[in-house]
Amino acid sequence: MIHVNIENYLNKNVSTLKGVGNKIKNLLKKKSIDKVSDLLLNLPQGYTDRRNYKKLNELEIGKITTIKVYIKKYNFPRIRNLPNKVICEDETGKIDITFFNSREGYIRKILPINQTMIISGKINYFRNKYQITNPTYIVPESKENYINQIIPKYSLTEGLTEKIYRKLIEQVLEKIIEINEWHDTETLKKIGNTSWAQSVKFLHSGKNIDLNSTHYKRLAYDEIISNLLVLSQVRKRIKKFKKNKKKTKNTLSKILEKNFKFSLTLDQKRVINEIGTDLKSEYRMLRILQGDVGSGKTIVAFISAAEVIESGYQVAMMAPTEILARQHYQLAKNIFKSTNINIELYTGKSESNVKKDIQKKTLNGEVNLLIGTHALFQKKVIFKKLGYVIIDEQHKFGVKQRIELSKKGGKECDILLMSATPIPRTLVMTLYGDMDVSRIIEKPKNRKGVITISKPESKVNEVLLFIKSQITKGNQIFWVCPLIKESKKLDYSAAIQKYSFLSKLFRDKVGLIHGSLEKDEKEKVLNLFLKKKIDILVSTTVIEVGIDFPKANVIIIENSNKFGLSQLHQLRGRIGRGENQGTCILLYKKNLSDNAKKRLRILKSSNDGFLIAEEDMKLRGYGDILGYQQSGIKNFKFADPIHHKDLFDMAEKNIKKIEGSENNFKKYEFLLKLFDKADVINKINNITS
Ligand code: ADP
Ligand code: MG
Repeated sequence: MIHVNIENYLNKNVSTLKGVGNKIKNLLKKKSIDKVSDLLLNLPQGYTDRRNYKKLNELEIGKITTIKVYIKKYNFPRIRNLPNKVICEDETGKIDITFFNSREGYIRKILPINQTMIISGKINYFRNKYQITNPTYIVPESKENYINQIIPKYSLTEGLTEKIYRKLIEQVLEKIIEINEWHDTETLKKIGNTSWAQSVKFLHSGKNIDLNSTHYKRLAYDEIISNLLVLSQVRKRIKKFKKNKKKTKNTLSKILEKNFKFSLTLDQKRVINEIGTDLKSEYRMLRILQGDVGSGKTIVAFISAAEVIESGYQVAMMAPTEILARQHYQLAKNIFKSTNINIELYTGKSESNVKKDIQKKTLNGEVNLLIGTHALFQKKVIFKKLGYVIIDEQHKFGVKQRIELSKKGGKECDILLMSATPIPRTLVMTLYGDMDVSRIIEKPKNRKGVITISKPESKVNEVLLFIKSQITKGNQIFWVCPLIKESKKLDYSAAIQKYSFLSKLFRDKVGLIHGSLEKDEKEKVLNLFLKKKIDILVSTTVIEVGIDFPKANVIIIENSNKFGLSQLHQLRGRIGRGENQGTCILLYKKNLSDNAKKRLRILKSSNDGFLIAEEDMKLRGYGDILGYQQSGIKNFKFADPIHHKDLFDMAEKNIKKIEGSENNFKKYEFLLKLFDKADVINKINNITS
């Protein structure tokens, strides 16, 4: 095929380019440029107009300017650290061209005396003289054309000059020729009818860097589609596996429903049906259940587990922490109590004889529902007939882990992931395109909810009075001092200070957890809080999602203006899970920015995680929204869910068409290589074959 050569060329390391030795290779690496294609995907941020010729009496300080001058005289001081100077002139005046760290011989060569040269660089003024320091370009008149141009401007790093970079990118762009189109005519028309080659070349001119230009949109769409293609491939691989239909009359789940003190919400019922349909189908389920903290996902999971158990299979449920696993276990014990279902808890911390016993019972099929932590996936844990894996709070799972998991579970295994991280609609496909998605939006009716108020830090005394009265009533308090910089040097000093401050007032009723505590220590403190041995828990943002602290009804969040909506909403979700009214107090330092005021207002007026996620994205850009970075999928280079919502929607529709045929898929091979997805797809095929 015609583009095989380009494809190979682009896939090579930059060191295959002319002019790239070790030094430049390392500089490029600093900019995350390894392969030739990375150069191509690194777009300029604008351009420099070097056609801006000026006579020496027309110079403006600070402007990038091109001059045509006569080389008059050298001034090479023999003193260290003083720059070498070359005095140049035209008919209107004089200028110094100065060089730091350049040898005389080199300067004599590039600026030969008594010659006319073209020089381009930024004008400055020093000791009553104009000068250009280390000019970007110096060429003889015969090569004037190379400078007399609009030249694209890239984000560079020290040592990587425009001149060097230009040599590289020009080499690459020269190789770009029209290649076979992968999009169908209709799609192409919608994104502006420019070919990939045209678009890339045009964008590298730097002349139009508008996100909504047709050239840009073409590349953005290519990127979105390449993402969806990967996920679609995963989905196809997993769905390809047939399984035995799970047969159940739902008698067990009906018994369970009687064991709740409440009735299920409509959303819960709908989702239970969606899962049930998958369980009963002949294809394996890979589904994610999204729902705000407290929306009642766990119950849904248990009801679906009951259906699977009734059909003769075992169920495994995994939680990210020991405490959460234990809570799930207790809840399961409670709601399965009038049945003869056998439930066990298996974590890394279980006694070894208990573990052995459970392993035995799991292997011989006595255990119907095994709840635990990561330990569930140890080799020693072998199920007799595993039919369903449920994973709670899955946001730490990337695409690869999902595939591995599906393999581990075995052929009959349906998979449900649960996440309390609401993702804006536009991103659902690009994050979870390999899965089916269920959403719970409606909250249980009996919730009094959370009242959210904001206060300047100067009024912290009112807050202290309030929490005192709450503690007297038997309530507990979260006090969150989030890390301001998520730097490697963890800055939890604020939390420690607050801890000692509160300890003076509330003595030994205060606990502290932060990110650098070992998991065990953290769980110890959480347990103290859970058992009400302490009343106030001071923490950085590390409070685990999902744990039920029934008596904790107040959360104080310091520096709340520094945080995104989704993050604040997640924190707030730790309270108000029971039937009591929760209070969330957002503390801020004085002088809120307009944006921060807006965020607090949204938070006060809504308790809907999905809506908040949308607003958060609009306010902060998609790169920052919670969960996105943890998802294991790299940020987009071109596509932006806010600007390109139409492209995302279009891709979502088109991917279904593409999925239909293997042949169709082949057309996109170039694209997948370009965006580094080919390897991922190979891995998928290896894992699932
Ligand atoms: P999630 O995992 O979605 O954060 P949970 O499943 O832990 O939420 O549920 C939070 C609390 O709400 C639990 O105490 C649960 O028993 C309760 N709950 C669940 N569904 C309902 C409902 N329909 N009505 C009332 N309470 C409910
Ligand atoms: Mg939960």
